[in-house]
Amino acid sequence: MRTIDVIAKKRNGAELSQEEIDFFIRGYTQGEIPDYQAAAWLMAVYLHGMTDRETLDLTLAMAHSGNVLDLKKIAPFVVDKHSTGGIGDKVSLVIAPLVAACGMPVAKMTGRGLGSTGGTVDKLESIPGYRTDLSESEFKSQLKEIDLVLTGQSTDLTPADRKLYSLRDVTATVDSIPLIASSIMSKKLASGADAIVLDVKTGNGAFMKKLEEAEELAKTLVRLGDQTERQVVALISDMNQPLGWAVGNGLEVREAINTLHEGGPDDFRDHCLVVAAEMLKLGGKAKDTNAALTLALETLSSGAAWRKLKDMVEAQGGDTRYIEEPRLLSQARLVEPVPAPRSGYLTAMKAAEVGKAVMELGGGREKKDDPIDHDVGVIVHYKVGNLVQKGTPLFTIHANDEAKLATARERMLAAHTFSDVHAQQLPLFYRRVTEAD
Ligand code: URA
Repeated sequence: MRTIDVIAKKRNGAELSQEEIDFFIRGYTQGEIPDYQAAAWLMAVYLHGMTDRETLDLTLAMAHSGNVLDLKKIAPFVVDKHSTGGIGDKVSLVIAPLVAACGMPVAKMTGRGLGSTGGTVDKLESIPGYRTDLSESEFKSQLKEIDLVLTGQSTDLTPADRKLYSLRDVTATVDSIPLIASSIMSKKLASGADAIVLDVKTGNGAFMKKLEEAEELAKTLVRLGDQTERQVVALISDMNQPLGWAVGNGLEVREAINTLHEGGPDDFRDHCLVVAAEMLKLGGKAKDTNAALTLALETLSSGAAWRKLKDMVEAQGGDTRYIEEPRLLSQARLVEPVPAPRSGYLTAMKAAEVGKAVMELGGGREKKDDPIDHDVGVIVHYKVGNLVQKGTPLFTIHANDEAKLATARERMLAAHTFSDVHAQQLPLFYRRVTEAD
């Protein structure tokens, strides 16, 4: 079989066989197929899509490109969650300790930022010393000891996804349903999840801009769950404005810690509680949504979830002073509140533009090996639907460079639009998808 023939077949819009997909994924993982050929293949998949059968074969080929974890001896039923990526999406930092504190083990391998959306690994690395490179045996023993692990994708698990993920990021091939679905589900299969709650984002700051596209992605994910005998629930949530107030790595960790202390923004806290409740139901910790929400709320209020986070940070070598005093996180040199240019109801705050502003400040990557500045970001002070008074701080920029601050200020101002009449608030969630058709 020749790589160029597989690329040409997909370029011509034909369906690839299982053997061709296996050949491609194996060859790319082992370094026999170079990045430039993989990039061409990704673009062909992006442009022509994949059939359900191809998407399943791609998912399985990626899941088996490395080790497949068996966590049965440590945790008989593992429930995981995964977000398709958003702006200010720090949900895992709250949900993982919260669900673990409710008595359900959470073992999660998380990713880096993709496009202008943030990644949990980048956020966690704002905590000095925190290790995101646990080995498989460290992963398992920490799960056994404290019921909670949040680490980067191990080099032994889904190496195909790790390589493809960063290549997609720089070849404009991220927002493709078969590529996103196979990337997510391959990781979940390899990391030993029995049930998965998928947080599928839609809106201008998400990969799926339209609700119909998000529904199609949600159904593809649920179908892959059926085909691989995993329970999957997909929640479609809004990403037209940032989730919560903070966008930027250290600032988001700070906000997540405040939320674990029952503070934090309402939309973010509610979002976390809903996703946590789905996980608790899937894991059999609660018989219905009402019971699951009560359990999650009580655990949050008791401080047990915050203590779990601290235990995890300690176990992974992080400096726990930052968990006790979250204001130590994110110490940018320049902190500038920007006043609202006019009074009125906020009708839009484009999440995509907020994401770009943070990326340009240095909080995200333009190229796959770019370093990240964990201290920079923005805090928004209003949500869509709020009445804003001229001259009050609309958002605050945390920057380490004057020129970048000025660019971010302009982009952020342009991201906001106002109206003189009432503007509607945006919903948190649109739909819950549990059936593939
Ligand atoms: N999250 C992933 O893990 N993969 C994608 O392709 C997009 C979001």
